[in-house]
Amino acid sequence: PLKKPGSLADLLKECAGFILRGSKIRCKCSISNNLWAVDMDQGQISQVVNNLLINAVDAMPNGGVVLVRATNADIPDNDKIPLKKGKYVKASITDKGCGIRKEIAQKIFDPYFTTKKKGSGLGLSTSYFIIKKHGGMITVRSKVGVGTTFQFFLPATSSSS
Ligand code: ADP
Ligand code: MG
Repeated sequence: PLKKPGSLADLLKECAGFILRGSKIRCKCSISNNLWAVDMDQGQISQVVNNLLINAVDAMPNGGVVLVRATNADIPDNDKIPLKKGKYVKASITDKGCGIRKEIAQKIFDPYFTTKKKGSGLGLSTSYFIIKKHGGMITVRSKVGVGTTFQFFLPATSSSS
């Protein structure tokens, strides 16, 4: 309902500034110039990015670096990625935290699933729902003891070229 064309680059930087300020986590941004605009509800997408950043902070209690990336992605037909053919912006957030075991990883998008003492278990399920409602998708790749990357795609505004 509140979807309008916006810059994921600005949103990512604002969220990182907001969440990481005063934490032991540094942000390394690698965001392409000339990113396509995406149709988004800025409040909802900020919520997604904030959730991912907070999880990254939680995963690195001793501090470290979070990598925030964004690039344009032209998804062809029949691609391995289960998205409709078209233009997307792909964003990812990578931490060098504890990582997620396979048995756990299967459940992290389930509502109320948490491994934290005071976790709600709602961050990722909400994020999954928001990204899906935007016509995109969110995935995770993780290695125990190495770190975790959450990646999401959002459709570019149709006037993008
Ligand atoms: P919460 O943060 O309240 O636990 P989330 O839905 O945000 O709920 O995350 C669910 C679970 O996924 C977490 O409890 C944690 O086990 C796992 N998780 C999410 N992000 C990360 C991450 N970056 N590194 C390690 N584990 C993670
Ligand atoms: Mg969370």
